[in-house]
Amino acid sequence: MQPGLIQEIAALVGPEHVLREEEARWTYAYDATDLTALPDLVVFPGSAAEVAAIVRLANRYRFPVIPRGAGTNQVGAAVPLQGGVVLALTRMNRILEINPEDLVAVVEPGVITGHLKQAAAEKGLYYPPDPGSQDYCTIGGNVATGAGGAVAVQYGVTRDYVLGLEVVDRKESPRGSKLVFLRTPGSEELLEIKEIYGKGDERRTEIVAGETDLELEDMIAEEDMVIAITKSGYIKRLPVTAYREQRRGGIGVMGMELKEDDYIEH
Ligand SMILES: Cc1cc2nc3c(=O)[nH]c(=O)nc-3n(C[C@H](O)[C@H](O)[C@H](O)COP(=O)(O)OP(=O)(O)OC[C@H]3O[C@@H](n4cnc5c(N)ncnc54)[C@H](O)[C@@H]3O)c2cc1C
Repeated sequence: MQPGLIQEIAALVGPEHVLREEEARWTYAYDATDLTALPDLVVFPGSAAEVAAIVRLANRYRFPVIPRGAGTNQVGAAVPLQGGVVLALTRMNRILEINPEDLVAVVEPGVITGHLKQAAAEKGLYYPPDPGSQDYCTIGGNVATGAGGAVAVQYGVTRDYVLGLEVVDRKESPRGSKLVFLRTPGSEELLEIKEIYGKGDERRTEIVAGETDLELEDMIAEEDMVIAITKSGYIKRLPVTAYREQRRGGIGVMGMELKEDDYIEH
């Protein structure tokens, strides 16, 4: 990156909020995968306006911008494979409002998920999404990845709790939106199962006993599966291998909401 451009970015956010030294930049070259790639610059914006200003520069000078929360994703999504600016959002970590009346929280993207859960709990409220990384991952990363966790079957995942976003895109200025994410059962496969065995609305698939025999084998492909059916009629099906891999990187199951009777393992 040209020194002039680096200076321009540093002037925008303050020089103390930019990492230029190579050894410092290496600490933002990775996520929870084995991938690494060195960013040209790491920038810690303090507001949506600063984010928008950096995106404006990126449009003008054509450099990649990679948003980053805590870098805990497991797919290489925060690794700057083509260099450019890593936009580390950890400075934007304020909980602006939690309104117990309308049950709405307004937060900046760098808020740690566990901090929001704690702040909600202090007001007698429950913010359900609970990725295993909740003690250090961010709400922005949760929204971008649609993060779920141990209570996802019963309560849904992050997207089920997003009412609106302030978005900076290539159109350069922050835009307010009113995006309401609706709950859906998920995969085509579940829709098919619901079609065959289910009755009820999109969210609650009721399995009707006796109408037709539920042959578990019909739903099992090549390998052993874990099938969980909640009391409210939600079906979750996972290959055993994927289920085991999802045991939070070897640190154990963080929680299990399903009752014995609802849970079948082959
Ligand atoms: C031990 C462990 C347990 C985990 N358990 C779970 C789990 O139970 N459930 C689950 O779903 N995931 C889990 N994960 C994966 C990971 O924690 C989640 O994907 C989490 O949502 C990532 O958040 P982050 O702040 O670390 O985002 P990052 O990894 O920094 O970023 C993830 C993606 O989001 C983008 N992004 C980040 N912030 C923003 C923003 N403000 N605006 C736009 N884009 C943004 C990044 O560019 C990247 O593409 C786990 C990971 C670990 C290491």
